[in-house]
Amino acid sequence: MIKGRDIIKTFDGFTALDNLNINIEKGAVYGLVGPNGAGKTTLIKILTGIYKPDGGSFEIDGRQDFISEDIKQKTVYISDDLYFYPTFSVKQMASFYKDVYKAWDDETFKRLASLFGLDIKRRASKLSKGMKKQVAFLLALSSKPDLLVLDEPIDGLDPVMRRNIMNVVLQEVEKRQMTVLISSHNLRELEDICDHVGIMHDGKIVIEKSLDDVKGNIHKLQLAFSGDTPTDLKDKLEILKEEKFGSVCLYIVRGNYDDIKDKLAPYKPLICDILPLSLEEVFIYELGGMGYELKNEII
Ligand code: ADP
Ligand code: MG
Repeated sequence: MIKGRDIIKTFDGFTALDNLNINIEKGAVYGLVGPNGAGKTTLIKILTGIYKPDGGSFEIDGRQDFISEDIKQKTVYISDDLYFYPTFSVKQMASFYKDVYKAWDDETFKRLASLFGLDIKRRASKLSKGMKKQVAFLLALSSKPDLLVLDEPIDGLDPVMRRNIMNVVLQEVEKRQMTVLISSHNLRELEDICDHVGIMHDGKIVIEKSLDDVKGNIHKLQLAFSGDTPTDLKDKLEILKEEKFGSVCLYIVRGNYDDIKDKLAPYKPLICDILPLSLEEVFIYELGGMGYELKNEII
């Protein structure tokens, strides 16, 4: 759905985006993860037509005129810095959105306002930080976008609110293939939400992966043998990390489940657990060569 090629953005000679490439498929929940200052907000602002890139090209739905009225109608952006008209109630904000977005749906608005427990007569700008976030999601989801862009949306939400909101977002993804781009400085925050992750560092996307691919292709093995660990086993497996706890060996291994199982079978291990890794573990190994600092900052 979105393809960015060699995107460059500079501010007074400072390079914020440095030949960045990004690919987001339709219906994906794409997590853009990177430390503060990596360029996430800058990239999002280019994508939503707020900034103009200094170089490179962007395509949305095969079109390069992505800031056209047509594309804007189908895109909703919740910025990290929310704004509501100072005197407007939630209901008045809703009628403003309804004027702007043709696909606005009153039913969704009513349903979500009640689900989130919001009093729509209250002034939006006077609500608590968490409630303002809820209002932003309420307005965004009622506008029925094809692309929902969220810049650090999890800050300020308590865990229950976060789960409620993300459930509704994921339902929309499932029901009508809405695409979501969601940024965070913390990989852990996105663990249970995303199906694709782009890791951003110094104005570039340094790793971009579909989690199904990644998770399916790296495993944790717990093995124990009746005698010594067979010496040639290690030559057969692509081991990224190993540890030993008494007679149990723990390996992080590249490869899919069936291949690993077949390779182990002849050795008849007493214990043989082949487990998937968490998103966090996957990226610790994927980021192996990429510097300790980045790892520590985003995980
Ligand atoms: P992130 O959202 O990943 O924390 P940003 O995209 O906000 O990062 O910023 C990336 C870099 O670009 C930072 O060094 C920031 O100071 C700089 N930057 C962002 N916007 C501007 C601007 N309008 N003017 C000057 N520098 C900017
Ligand atoms: Mg930011």
